[in-house]
Amino acid sequence: MLDYVIRPLPEARLFRVELALDAPKAETLTLYLPSWTFGSYVERAYSGRVRNVTASCEGAPLVVDWYEADRWRVSLAGIEPGNRITLAYDVFADSLGIHDAYIDEKRGFINPSALFIMPLDGAAESPNDDWARVSFPDEWSVCTTLARRPDRAFGAPSREALLDAPMTLLPLKRSEAVRFLVDACGVEHEIVVTGTASLNTKRIAKDLRTIFETVIRFWDPNEEKAPFSRYVVHLHLSPKSYGGLEHADGCVLLEDLYALPAEGETEPPKAYSEFLSLVAHEYFHAWLVRRLRPTVIVEADLTRPVYTDDLWIFEGITSYYESRLLELAGLRTAEETRKALVTRLNAAWGREGFDAMSLERSSRLAWVKLYRPTADSLYSTVSYYAKGAFAALLLDEELRTRTCGRASLDTVLAAWWARDRASLANGTYRGLAPGGFAEVVRGASGIDLTAFIASLTREEGDRALWGERLDAALARRGLKRRADPSAPAALRLAGLGLKKEADGRSTVTWSALGSPSRAAGLFPGDELLAVDGLRCRPDEIDRQFERATGRKVVLHWFRENRIFEGVLDLTRTDTAWQALLPFELADLHAES
Ligand SMILES: [Zn+2]
Repeated sequence: MLDYVIRPLPEARLFRVELALDAPKAETLTLYLPSWTFGSYVERAYSGRVRNVTASCEGAPLVVDWYEADRWRVSLAGIEPGNRITLAYDVFADSLGIHDAYIDEKRGFINPSALFIMPLDGAAESPNDDWARVSFPDEWSVCTTLARRPDRAFGAPSREALLDAPMTLLPLKRSEAVRFLVDACGVEHEIVVTGTASLNTKRIAKDLRTIFETVIRFWDPNEEKAPFSRYVVHLHLSPKSYGGLEHADGCVLLEDLYALPAEGETEPPKAYSEFLSLVAHEYFHAWLVRRLRPTVIVEADLTRPVYTDDLWIFEGITSYYESRLLELAGLRTAEETRKALVTRLNAAWGREGFDAMSLERSSRLAWVKLYRPTADSLYSTVSYYAKGAFAALLLDEELRTRTCGRASLDTVLAAWWARDRASLANGTYRGLAPGGFAEVVRGASGIDLTAFIASLTREEGDRALWGERLDAALARRGLKRRADPSAPAALRLAGLGLKKEADGRSTVTWSALGSPSRAAGLFPGDELLAVDGLRCRPDEIDRQFERATGRKVVLHWFRENRIFEGVLDLTRTDTAWQALLPFELADLHAES
C-alpha cells in the first residue's frame, strides 16, 4: 500500500508530500507524476512545480535520479524487498485552476494528478485493502469523496480512484468558505464553496437539488438511482473565472463570485443561469465520460496521451443537453434553451474551421488543437463540443423522425446506461470501443444509423450537408434560420470580430476569409486604431463601420508595435463569407 502524508505549507505556497511504500524486488524503483488529468486532454507538465525530491530507507538516504521530465528512479542497492522506502518532495501550489493545486492560509485545492507521484509498476490493487492512503494534519478539514478510515486517513481502492478524487482543504481557523448538503434521490451531495462566506445557500441548494434529480431521472427513469453513494461539488470562486472538470463522484467548478446570489439576496444575478448550466454539464458527465467512456480512457494510466475519435460523443452530447436539462428542471424556458443551443451551434458554424476539420479529427487531435489554440485555430479547427452538439441535435432529430417519436437521443442514452451499468458496477466494463456508438444506437432504437453517424463524424468541407439537415429539422419544428440582426456592424458589414478590451483597445479576434476586413489585411491579434481616419473607441466602433457602408475607407492598426494600414472596401458585392455570420431562429413563416 502507498502511504501519502500531505503537509500544507501555505506561507510558502507549497504542499510537502511524503510517500512511503514497500521496496519492490528490483534494483531501482521507478516513479512518475501523471502528465494529464481525466477530462482534460492536454499534457500539463505538472512536474515543473515539483522540487526538493529526496528518498530514504529507514532514515538512510537513497540516490534519486530525476531522469525524465516526470519520472524518477530511486536506487535500491543494498535494500531488502519489502523494506519501507520514503520519497519526499514539495509541490509549488499557486494555481487555482481546476486541473492544478493551490494552497494559501484560507483555502487549498488538490487535483490529484498535479500532486501524487506514484510507482510506475507494481503497487498492485487488492480487493481487500486500500491501494493508497492519504492523510493530512488535523488543522485542516478535507472535503473529498475518498472514504475516511478509522485512523483518519483517506483510503483509495485503486490508482484511478485516487486520481479521480479532488480534495478541497479548509483551515479550521480563518477559513472563508461555505459548506452545505443537498439530498437528491436519497444521495448526499456536499457543496463546498471557497472564496466567500456569504451565499444564499437556500436558493442554491434548491436549484442544485432540482438539477441533480432531473439528471438522475434522465439516466435511470425507472429506479431513479444515482451510480454513486456520495457526490462532492468543489466550487472555487475567483474573479472572472469560469470552468469545470468532471469526476466520477464529484466535480470541480470555477466561477466568479458575482455570478452567485449572496446571503439575503433573493433575486440571483443574470450570470447565475450560466452557473447552473455548468453544474448540469459536469453532473451529466458523472454518467457520460466518467463512467460510460472510451476504452482508451478506461485503460489510461495518465503517463501519456491516449487517442480516440469519439470525444465528440462525450462532450458534444453533454453540451447539447446542458441547457435542455435546465429546461426539464424548470430552471429555463424553452425559448432560453433554444437560444443557448443556437449560441453553441453558432460557435461551430461561424468559423472556417467547421469546414476544415471533421469531428473525428477534432476529437483525436484535442491534445494539440483544441487545448492549444493559436490565431489560426478559427480557420483550421473546430471544437468537438460545439460541432459535437450540432451532431447530437441532428442525431436526435434523425432518431425521432425515423421512429415517429418512439426513440430519441434521450432513450438511446438511458438504454446505453441500462446496458452497461452492471459491468461498470462489477468492474468488468471495457469501455466504448471504436465504432461502438453506432452499435449503442442500433441496440437502443432498432435502426441502423452507422452511415448517418459516419457522414457527420467524418465530414470535412461539406457545410451544405449540415445546413440542409439543420434546416429540415428546424422546419419540422416550425422554425428557420435567419441572419442575427443583433450581430455587431463590424462583423455584419466587414466580417470582423473584435474584442473590446477593458483598457479601451479593440483587438481583432477573427477576420473572415474573403471578407472586406480580410482583404484590407487584418488578422487576429491586430489592434484596430482608426476607421476612415477617426480613432476607434469601443462604444463608437460599430457606428464607424455603419458610416462606411457603400464606401472605401482607410483602416489603421498596430501589429505588435508597428503601424499598418489598408483599405476597407464596403462597395464589394461578393458576399459568400456572410454564410459564416451568426444566425438566429425565427418562425418558419416570418419575413426575414
Ligand atoms: Zn464537458
